[in-house]
Parts: sequence; C-alpha cells; structure tokens
Amino acid sequence: MKKRIGIMGGTFDPIHIGHLILAEKAYEELDLDEVWFMPSGNPPHKQNRAGRASDKQRVEMVRRAIADNSHFRLSTEEMHPDGYTYTYETLERLHEKYPDYIYYFIIGADSLYDFDMWRRPDRICKAASLLVATRNDVPEESLKKKMAYLEEKYQGEFILLHTPNLEISSQTLRDWIREGKTVRYYLVDKVCDYIRDEGVYRTES
Ligand code: ATP
Ligand code: MG
Repeated sequence: MKKRIGIMGGTFDPIHIGHLILAEKAYEELDLDEVWFMPSGNPPHKQNRAGRASDKQRVEMVRRAIADNSHFRLSTEEMHPDGYTYTYETLERLHEKYPDYIYYFIIGADSLYDFDMWRRPDRICKAASLLVATRNDVPEESLKKKMAYLEEKYQGEFILLHTPNLEISSQTLRDWIREGKTVRYYLVDKVCDYIRDEGVYRTES
C-alpha cells in the first residue's frame, strides 16, 4: 500500500489552530498516513521584514506546534537560502525523493481562487490531488463550480473537504501581538511562549 501524505503549505506567520485543525481533519477524512507542514520560503528581499517572523522562526513555531502529534511532520523542503520555490517544483522533487507516496495538497477555499495564477497548475495537478477546505464565507456551490472548472482544465483531482471554519488568520494574530493583546488559545501554548520569549511580531510592520 502506498503511503498517503497530506501536504499543508503556508507561510505560517505564525501557525495557528486554524491550520492545525484543517490538517487534522484532512488526516481523518482522507485516511492519510501523515500530514507534512511545509512552510514556504521567502525570497531574500522579503526576509527580515519588520513585523514578520524570520524563516527560522516560522520553522521553529511549526516544529513546536506539531511536536505532540505523531502523524504530523515538519518539512523544510521549501526553505531555500536563495528564496522560494514553486509548488510544482516542490511536489516533483518529493516524487523523486519518495516515489512510493501519494500526495494530497491541502488548501483553503480562498487559495483555490488563486490557483489559476500559480506557476504550472497542470504540473501541480499531475503531482498531487488538491484537497480544498470549505469556508463559511465561500458558498459551496461556487466552490464546486470552480473545482469542476479546474479539474477539466488541468485534468486534476479536486476533493472537497468539509471543515469547521475558524474566524482566524495569521494577519489578525500578528496585529494583536503587536498591540499587546492576548492570542491565547488561538495558538498552541508552546508557540505563544516562543513568540513572547523571542519578542516576535513586536515591531511595526
Ligand atoms: P495570513 O493572514 O498571513 O494570510 P493565514 O492565516 O491565511 O495567514 P497561511 O499561512 O496563509 O495562513 O495559510 C496556509 C493555509 O491554511 C492556506 O491554505 C489557508 O487557506 C489555510 N488557512 C488559513 N487560515 C485558516 C483557517 N482559519 N481555517 C482553515 N484554513 C485556514
Ligand atoms: Mg492567507
């Protein structure tokens, strides 16, 4: 039996419970063997921006957030010193490294509407199935229509994943942290501690 791997990509700046719940639901619904969290790398000009965490800090926050879940893994496949890599390149590299795995690329409904603009959607679809999480603010009919359109266009597999949706985004959390407001329960405790100890997100963006 081929191993079924969910790939959870994102900037994770910071990783929050919305990401973790989505990954856990995908794991359960699709009967996955593992979910790999893959923080995206930043090109050099986007590093060390005020109000943002560094690549190293984002990786460290993911590491801490998933530490106690035995089917979650951290993948630094997209962390390159000279910048970011495209999703299709990453997935193709994974196939080369681990040819026996089947990949499910997990995205939120919001990302589905950008999918056409990603580099080489056809090659992404060849390398992985797309797991699309529903969102409260996106009508399911519209989502299904978009999925059918993309399936046809790129000959891919798009699977709808019903998930509870949390009104939460990394952007809001960064703002709250900068303003000194509480983010407790939105983030895993160990991530909260890390942010406090390192003074992440304290400066104006
Ligand atoms: P930002 O506010 O900086 O855009 P974000 O919270 O959207 O950050 P990302 O790292 O951009 O987080 O998201 C990674 C993936 O997680 C994307 O596929 C996104 O659609 C999904 N996602 C983000 N927030 C949620 C949420 N609250 N519930 C479910 N999925 C989410
Ligand atoms: Mg986002």
